[in-house]
Amino acid sequence: MSTKMTNDSSNILREKPALVFPALPYEEDALEPVISAKTIGFHYGKHHKAYFDNLIKLVTDTDYSDMPLEQIITGTADRPERTAIFNNASQLWNHTFYWQCLAPKGGGEPPAALKSKIEADFGSVDTFKKEFGGAAVSQFGSGWAWLILEAGKLKVVKTGNAMAPVVKDGKVLLTIDVWEHAYYLDYQNRRADYVTAVLDKLINWEFAVKNLSK
Ligand code: MN
Repeated sequence: MSTKMTNDSSNILREKPALVFPALPYEEDALEPVISAKTIGFHYGKHHKAYFDNLIKLVTDTDYSDMPLEQIITGTADRPERTAIFNNASQLWNHTFYWQCLAPKGGGEPPAALKSKIEADFGSVDTFKKEFGGAAVSQFGSGWAWLILEAGKLKVVKTGNAMAPVVKDGKVLLTIDVWEHAYYLDYQNRRADYVTAVLDKLINWEFAVKNLSK
């Protein structure tokens, strides 16, 4: 009896795989002192979770409810009447991706294969960090800075609010969240200090390598 119940519930999970709230890939205090447990607690536990909860409410009993997240995002990006679904779906994806871009022992030098690609497309790792950090610092208001691969070339772009390069073609390698909720408890108005610390100490090059080879 109990076995049957277990099977039934796993079938249900298999039939509805699309929208899940992802686990944080490390403990909430794992990124200290660069990003505090308090920031992660609010950012992951409240902001990210709210995007997920809002999305579930918005898509329940609609055509979107069984769609993979990326399909919801691309399907609503240019539709003003679907802005609320787009914003929450895109922010759900962006944050899930962002957590993986950070690692407790991140930063330092990129692995050799990525390093040579960065040197080929930006000149040097330092130039890349200046360009990526510059995009993060100069994004006006809330948004994101991204490292993407477009037509075989690495490129830095920035987006406002919930917008993300996943909407268009191209491979996404890394991101930094520059909404104030990402850094304000720890850095207040000093966004540049947050960005520099993330690039030097947390950025997950291994994740970028994995995305590059996808
Ligand atoms: Mn955020």
